[in-house]
Amino acid sequence: MGKETGFIEYKRVSTAYRDPKKRIQDFDEFLQPLSEEDRKIQAARCMDCGVPFCQSDNGCPVDNLIPEWNDLVYRGEWQEAFYRLIKTNNFPEFTGRVCPAPCEHACVLGINEPAITIKDNECTIIDRAYKHGLMKPRIPKRRTGKKIAIIGSGPAGLASADQLNQVGHRVEVFERDDRIGGLLMYGIPNMKLSKELVQRRVDLLSAEGIVFRPGVAVGSAISGEKLLESFDAVLVAVGSTRPRDLPIDGRSLEGVHYAMDFLRPNTKSLLDSQLRDGNFISAKGKHVVVIGGGDTGNDCIGTAMRHGCKSLTNFELLAKPPKERGTQFPWPTFARTYKLDYGHAEAAAVFDNDPREYGILSERFIGENGKLTGIQTVRVRWEKPMPGQRPSFQKIEGTEEHWECDLALLSMGFVGPEPTVCDQLGITLDEIGRIDAQYGSFATNVKKVFTAGDARRGQSLVVWAIKEGRGAAKAIDTFLCGSSTLPD
Ligand SMILES: Cc1cc2nc3c(=O)[nH]c(=O)nc-3n(C[C@H](O)[C@H](O)[C@H](O)COP(=O)(O)OP(=O)(O)OC[C@H]3O[C@@H](n4cnc5c(N)ncnc54)[C@H](O)[C@@H]3O)c2cc1C
Ligand code: SF4
Repeated sequence: MGKETGFIEYKRVSTAYRDPKKRIQDFDEFLQPLSEEDRKIQAARCMDCGVPFCQSDNGCPVDNLIPEWNDLVYRGEWQEAFYRLIKTNNFPEFTGRVCPAPCEHACVLGINEPAITIKDNECTIIDRAYKHGLMKPRIPKRRTGKKIAIIGSGPAGLASADQLNQVGHRVEVFERDDRIGGLLMYGIPNMKLSKELVQRRVDLLSAEGIVFRPGVAVGSAISGEKLLESFDAVLVAVGSTRPRDLPIDGRSLEGVHYAMDFLRPNTKSLLDSQLRDGNFISAKGKHVVVIGGGDTGNDCIGTAMRHGCKSLTNFELLAKPPKERGTQFPWPTFARTYKLDYGHAEAAAVFDNDPREYGILSERFIGENGKLTGIQTVRVRWEKPMPGQRPSFQKIEGTEEHWECDLALLSMGFVGPEPTVCDQLGITLDEIGRIDAQYGSFATNVKKVFTAGDARRGQSLVVWAIKEGRGAAKAIDTFLCGSSTLPD
């Protein structure tokens, strides 16, 4: 334990964000990290609990050795902290920026004080390791002669590739997009995760021997059967990319788009030409309504704010969450409380109020000459569910409203992987459309085909994709060699 009285002496200070009105002028990262000295003070708050809930069960999915590296940071032993961190997490530079930090929700200090800044500490350890030249290619000393194809280059595919390469297998990653990284590259926007950092990691993995095949869609450019013939094992890590639709009147009007049809081209155009090629949907001067919340909705808000939208509203079907965790979300579970994320803060700074409207249902898109001009809504009241039943809502009579809108972005989640690869390989899906494979074995119904990440788990988090990618690597290594020294 670093400083015995640290948690009494020091208050939590999180990494600051750039001023909202200034940061919407560009797509650069918004984080403003603390100095190393201030970070050491934050690490000193860790109590080194007998049972570190932060790193187990409800806490960190990759079981990061949190109290150990907090102690090392407090002592200024940054290099040792870095070695501890990379034992469990392949890509802390990503989770240190985008993870919702379930570890902090499970932090024991968090019961009656603000939790330790675990995520920020993680980010500083890895950023510092890159800065000080510790992140060098680790080229495997021996090769096994086994070949593995990975379909999809998101965090699940990349984590698995990293693990399998390190034990000496030859790994090729097939990605249909022109850049590697999955949603790290073309989902999460630049201001939250710089694409230079994603490319820096891809370059490192390349230098370590992983072969990347961008622009190769499995199912059309190369068949699934061909991969099965040519490789000893195949990992399907294609994500959960089918968006949930809103099939109400007016859905086909010009101006109604899925969130990813807005976010992906924006990042591509930004990387290709600093948005000069115009190959993206612009929110400039528009009345924007984002339907649905979560990270995707918030990223749509942040992107629309950077384009210079005229107004911004965010519809949320659910009721406003509580400010504090109550009996509904007891410690150490993840508390779904009210929080002002970066996009909400930016809209609030420019338009003087939180853009979210809670308990609202979109009933009809309205248009003129085929173009969207507005949305008709009604307010809803949520009913307390009976035990074992799902929550339901009732429309509130007389609460119909009309919202001016010429750009509506649908951000209501994703329903599973696209069918092409699964159909071609004969992979079975479960009852809700995810690839059917047990956590732990990660094996599909097709011999030598494994799966990991959102494709198996359903829409989830980067940290869970990393965890699943690691687990699938161990399962594949065991399948190929009879046993494995890889961790789960
Ligand atoms: C807009 C957005 C913001 C998000 N923000 C956060 C966040 O802040 N924090 C967080 O923890 N999580 C966030 N998430 C969730 C997180 O990004 C995902 O859970 C994670 O990326 C899943 O990883 P994956 O490797 O399973 O799949 P993906 O990252 O989806 O990668 C799958 C890859 O497979 C490729 N692919 C699909 N089919 C084929 C094919 N036939 N041939 C070749 N390649 C193929 C796709 O092009 C894609 O690159 C966000 C998600 C979205 C959509
Ligand atoms: S990966 Fe996420 S849960 Fe794990 S320590 Fe980092 S921020 Fe916490």
